[in-house]
Amino acid sequence: MLYLDNSATTQMLPEVKDSMLPYLLEEFGNPSSKYYSLATNAKNAVNEAREHIAKLIGCDSDEIIFTSGATESNNMIIKGIADYYGEHNQHIITSKVEHPSVLETCHYLEKKGFTVTYLDVDSYGRIYLDKLKEIMLQSPPLLVSIMWGNNEIGSLQPIEEIAKLCAEQNVFFHTDATQVMGKVFTDISTIEGLHFLSCSAHKFHGPKGIGVAVIKKDRNNLKTKITPLLHGGGQENDYRSGTLPVHNIVGMGKAAQLAFANFDQNVEYLLDLENHLRMILKAKFGDVIVFNSDETKKIPGIISVQFKGINNEMLIKNLAGVVALSTGSACSSSKPSHVLQAIGLHADGLRSTIRFSLSSLVKKEELDIFKQL
Ligand code: PLP
Repeated sequence: MLYLDNSATTQMLPEVKDSMLPYLLEEFGNPSSKYYSLATNAKNAVNEAREHIAKLIGCDSDEIIFTSGATESNNMIIKGIADYYGEHNQHIITSKVEHPSVLETCHYLEKKGFTVTYLDVDSYGRIYLDKLKEIMLQSPPLLVSIMWGNNEIGSLQPIEEIAKLCAEQNVFFHTDATQVMGKVFTDISTIEGLHFLSCSAHKFHGPKGIGVAVIKKDRNNLKTKITPLLHGGGQENDYRSGTLPVHNIVGMGKAAQLAFANFDQNVEYLLDLENHLRMILKAKFGDVIVFNSDETKKIPGIISVQFKGINNEMLIKNLAGVVALSTGSACSSSKPSHVLQAIGLHADGLRSTIRFSLSSLVKKEELDIFKQL
């Protein structure tokens, strides 16, 4: 079967699996234990993985906090800032196209008395910077949380410009970078106003159940403190207690090392695959199709397409034995997509949209299957 649902999850690379196996079997020590080699071997492996992930993100390794994935990272960062600083400022700005792990966290905080501004987006899913600036001046927020790239339509947000605004106004900036790791240049070392970042390993050929929350060291006048979600033994600088899943961390480290080493080659390949798929779809379906995202300023390999007059669920079900596709996000497949609604699609557009999400494991000739449908 041709797997084209890589925004939902990716296949783990064999090198990643091989790197993990020793830590599931003979190297089973707890990295927080001391004095004997089983523990120190585990600790060294965790530290090495931390270095690889830090290199991919362009942060220091002690700014990496391991979590169970981006859902936890988003919850931990947004609730953690709200709890730590909420007495002084209860305004948060986010966008209408965020992942549910950001939106539902914001809804929860609204019930606790916070005010959340959900920014509109243009027809390609990008926020309006002028509007953000206007709202920031009118009612200075505690936190701006805007995703780096969208999981349904692939659009990229102007992260550097948002970070600049946040730095000028002394506001915390968090970005959900889950969909861009290994596909977009994510070196945050030069992005002065970016304080927090979330991601998950399984979106870039690592294992499921492991992710990272980046908490940058204090910058300018801002102390990047958060209240932890999990209290306990004090692992991860006291930000996330619990015994570390060494095998998963090692797997994420290996996936990050490979994503970093093969970055240029992977991006070039994804762009080539995407162009090939666009050409096939245009030739086959002509005027029936409308691309929901533009061809630039988007994540390589994610295309969202409306097939006018065709029911997306029916098409996907009919193809299920041959090609794995989705209508959009895997988390909210039963509800109409809030992302597609935010970019202005109505009932027919919502019912006819299909997301194709590619990966470097897809072979170009495999896409020719769409010529025969
Ligand atoms: N953020 C974005 C943009 C995502 O696409 C996803 C997963 O689809 C998540 C967060 C949540 O990731 P996880 O399910 O690994 O916690």
